Amino acid sequence: MDQTKNLLRAEVEALSGDLLNASEFLYNNPETAYQEFKACEYLSRFLEDRGFVVERGIGGVKTAFLARPAGLQKKRPTIALLAEYDALPGVGHGCGHNLIAAISLGAALAISRYLKDIPGGLSVVGTPAEEGGGGKILLAEAGVFLEMDMAMMCHPGRLNLPGEEMIGRVKFKIEFFGEAAHASVSPDQGINALDAIVAAYNNINALRQTLRPDARIHGIITHGGDAPNIIPKYTAGLFYVRAATRSYMDDVFKRVEKCVAGAALAIGARYNIEMIQPTFDPIKRNLPLEETVRANMEALGITVDRDDGRRGSSDIGNLSYYLPAIHPSLAIVDPEVPGHSQTFAEATMSLRGREALLKGAKLLAMTAYDYLTSVELRENVSKAFRQAE
Ligand SMILES: [Zn+2]
Ligand SMILES: [Zn+2]
Repeated sequence: MDQTKNLLRAEVEALSGDLLNASEFLYNNPETAYQEFKACEYLSRFLEDRGFVVERGIGGVKTAFLARPAGLQKKRPTIALLAEYDALPGVGHGCGHNLIAAISLGAALAISRYLKDIPGGLSVVGTPAEEGGGGKILLAEAGVFLEMDMAMMCHPGRLNLPGEEMIGRVKFKIEFFGEAAHASVSPDQGINALDAIVAAYNNINALRQTLRPDARIHGIITHGGDAPNIIPKYTAGLFYVRAATRSYMDDVFKRVEKCVAGAALAIGARYNIEMIQPTFDPIKRNLPLEETVRANMEALGITVDRDDGRRGSSDIGNLSYYLPAIHPSLAIVDPEVPGHSQTFAEATMSLRGREALLKGAKLLAMTAYDYLTSVELRENVSKAFRQAE
């Protein structure tokens, strides 16, 4: 292996105490989407204390930050190491973002020590609110990534994977408007908005059978009426449509709209559909980068698992249309353990979780090194980025 890669690995080992402390701080101070004030400050100071210049509140997002090694001009190519640090309501770091942040810090510090020998630059971008808030989308729209050429992060998970499909996601509110009436004395005067939303729900269920396996539709009724003796005049629900490509997601959404319109027609109610931002795009995968990650995983003795086809969504999907982006995962639990759980949160602090932190930091540092030092890899990455859907 290239000597510099060995040095990068040793550098991460030397930082292990500090990185574990960072992960533990986030674990003990979980903050949900856009409320990550303590996390943002801790991570910014962590980098400032180690030779980075940090801008807080970038892109108009208070809990976002951008850190660059001091004295380094905006060199190209520049790598963005993404740090997520938001937690989940009720289960703290049940998605393990405390590890994501610590992994990116470790990789950035290791690489920054060798930047005088490596062409190019690097930034750490603190990206809040991955869970439902879509912080990366706001930062990308604000132009934060214009000075960067490739973005990377590493997510703890159930499997060791260089990359995986991530499905796109639209979230929307469905409302039905009927007429209230006494449910016993004058039901014939009413238009039942509850029946309309139940019909819509059943139409959507019927639609499921004819969808591709990558599509998902799921939802809840959030308002079902006001009292049992009143014909409900207003009902509402929240739904998600997910699919592996933007075009199929749009297609499924249009069919759901017809399910809703059909229900309204049948009952004689009116309906409204309101999109709720953010919409997550499916990830645009970059195979040359993923192959580089795979080779580095193998060099680190990590067994790459077979993808089991379970899919989530993330705002890195949107980012992957702005610049090549990768999202490898490292297992910290057995495959049957669900994410977004207390067990998963605790695993981030387990021996396996701590080992994954160091492996992840080494993996990203080594991959960053490959990207910055190989013109051929960069050309292949750009080509794949331009060709992908
Ligand atoms: Zn999550
Ligand atoms: Zn996550």
